Parts: sequence; structure tokens; C-alpha cells
Amino acid sequence: MAQNWWMRILVIEDEVRLADYLRKGLSESGYVVDLAHDGIDGLHFAVEGSYDLVILDVMLPGKDGFEVLAALRARRRTPVLMLTARDAVEDRVKGLTEGADDYLGKPFSFSELLARVQALLRRGGAERGSPFSTTLRLADLELDMARRKATRGGRRLELTPQEFNLLTLFLRRAGEVLSRTVLAEQVWDINFDSDTNVVEVAVRRLRSKLDEPFATKLLHTVRGMGYVLEERDE
Ligand code: CA
Repeated sequence: MAQNWWMRILVIEDEVRLADYLRKGLSESGYVVDLAHDGIDGLHFAVEGSYDLVILDVMLPGKDGFEVLAALRARRRTPVLMLTARDAVEDRVKGLTEGADDYLGKPFSFSELLARVQALLRRGGAERGSPFSTTLRLADLELDMARRKATRGGRRLELTPQEFNLLTLFLRRAGEVLSRTVLAEQVWDINFDSDTNVVEVAVRRLRSKLDEPFATKLLHTVRGMGYVLEERDE
């Protein structure tokens, strides 16, 4: 997958149902999510991979969350959200003093988790000045990567996660003609099948939100080649 301009989150959690639930929820919120089910794999992924955030359970087989945290901190500053047992005050204190950026007691609601995740990604982005997390701009279009918010002229565009990803790709490669094949591979992670019009349909929907309400069009069709996002003098 070549989707590394989106926020990537690693979930290290041995409870398979909870891990799957987190992956599903976070994916639907537009993040790219990898799972590890024990501390050894988790640490390996966290150190070798390129993640914007790690969600780390304390009680893990192999290495526990604190061991993973200590080993990770020796190598990387990736923000870490620790999942602790409810009311385990000692775990919380220990986690925060040993380099976790935030903690969440189990059980938690998904919206609670998502709020923490977004806050950490914003904070991390501001500190790192990372290209992942700042705002992307073209003309009056703005994409806030951490908040996953798109606006034109200050007006919020109500995009689905997939439309947001599609627009992010266009904006990161503004001025470049992107073929349907490239879009299909990058946004849908599928090999382009000439029988499917999934790209055309998605571009049409995106356009109806991005361009139709506004005087200046940004997303243009290049006949026989694909699409390009750019500001044109018309
Ligand atoms: Ca556990």
C-alpha cells in the first residue's frame, strides 16, 4: 500500500475483538490502521514502521506495554496512547512518567478514543511540523489533515472518509494529472478494472461538493488522461 500520506496508526492489543473493533472504527474515520497482537510484534512494527500514532495496551503477551514503551522511546518519539485497566492509577502514572502521551482506561467508548487520537495527532503535528498534519491549501480550499476537515472559503465541505482521501491525494499532487488507474490503486487499493466506473462515480460526487457550489472550479478532467486539481484562470 502506498498510502503513506494519510495518518497511520498502529494498534497493539491482544484482545482480538477489541483490536478488530478499533481497526474498523479508525479505518472508517479515515485512518490507515495496522494491528499487532503481542508486545514483540508490536514493538517491531512501531520501530520499523512509520506511524503517526501508536495505541498501546498495557497487558500484553511477549512484552508488556511498559516494556514496549521504554524500548520504543529509546528509538522514536511517536505519540503513544496507552490503554489501561479502569482505575489502574498506578499504571496511568507510570505510563505518563515513562513517556506515554496520554492514557485511556478500559472500557471506553469509541468516540472517547477518537477524541484522544485526534488531539494527539494535532499536538504531534504541531510539534513536529510534519507534512502529514499541517494544513494543505490550494486557492480557497483548505484541508486540515489532523482534524480531517475540508473547507472552501471557510465553508465546511461534508466529505466521506473516502472523498477526503481522494481530495488529499489530488491536493498533495496538485497540478499533476492523475489517471484513473493511479486513483484506483492509491485510494481504493485495487487494481484498475476497466469495467468499473468506481473512480468516475467518486470524482463526480467529490466535484458536486468541492466545485458545484463555488464560482471557481478546481478539479478538471483531462480528456483521455485523467483528472487534475489546479487553479486556472477562466
Ligand atoms: Ca491486553
